Amino acid sequence: AIINFGSVNIDHVYQVDHFVNPGETIASQDYQQLLGGKGANQSIALAAAGADVKHVGKINQSDSAFKQTLIKHGIDCQFLQCVESPSGHAIIQVIPSGENAIVLFGGANQEIGSKDILHALDKTRPSDWVLTQNETSGLAEMLQLAKEKKLRVAFNPAPMSESVKSLPHECIDLLVVNEVEAAELSGEHELDAIIAHFKTKWSHAEVIITLGKAGVIMLKNNETIQVDAFIVDAVDTTAAGDTFIGYFLAAYSQHADARQALKRGCAASAISVTRMGAAQSIPAVKDVDRFLAK
Ligand code: ADP
Repeated sequence: AIINFGSVNIDHVYQVDHFVNPGETIASQDYQQLLGGKGANQSIALAAAGADVKHVGKINQSDSAFKQTLIKHGIDCQFLQCVESPSGHAIIQVIPSGENAIVLFGGANQEIGSKDILHALDKTRPSDWVLTQNETSGLAEMLQLAKEKKLRVAFNPAPMSESVKSLPHECIDLLVVNEVEAAELSGEHELDAIIAHFKTKWSHAEVIITLGKAGVIMLKNNETIQVDAFIVDAVDTTAAGDTFIGYFLAAYSQHADARQALKRGCAASAISVTRMGAAQSIPAVKDVDRFLAK
């Protein structure tokens, strides 16, 4: 199984003429409430790809419909607790050009603690993987316990923050970063320097750097594996990274070879960028198989 310690956010999306100014009140032309959060998106992508995924997280009890949605996607939600605190949520203003401005509140995502971590990792097996992003609390403790239990640990430090630098890096087996996260974490700007940094400072781990439409690079042992992105007409790249991680890890954790798994991740994320939205842009496995057969 893949145990994903991940955020579940409720995205409140408002269509507005312009971003609200200081002191101003504006009317919104349209409103949509969507399931979001990098954690939930990655669980959805994992489940779509056929992985056995358990989502560990917290949402407000009045948002239990979102839990039902995740269950319908095929995700094991026994460790997704409904609590009294407000759910993590984002207030998203979208202007006609498509640009957005976002206020994010971590809410219940930031209340994952020791008890939840111990509980979720209690009955794990050595073949299990643990996955997390940077939108939930308790990361240092979770990484340490997962390592003690000899589980394989995948970490996607998104959104990047200073606190990532002080996490126990030695507990991480697989690091997945995009170009921006890679630059911030390494303190380097040029891709060659970034790669050199990870080869020396992260030699204990496998490192994947996703490069948008330039594809992906994986550093594994002393090898550098490069896989091109598929050429598609992109309309919305939201959740490209989440889709990549879900499809990659579903394949990789089932012993597919690295190059094969990277290719599946690239195919799934290429399809996702041709569709609008986040979770709703994550493709079904039959679409990915068909895309790869072309
Ligand atoms: P993030 O969404 O986290 O910023 P990236 O932009 O690096 O991550 O995208 C993740 C993966 O999605 C890439 O490695 C690539 O395979 C795929 N992808 C992203 N943008 C495109 C695109 N315009 N065309 C084709 N594939 C893309």
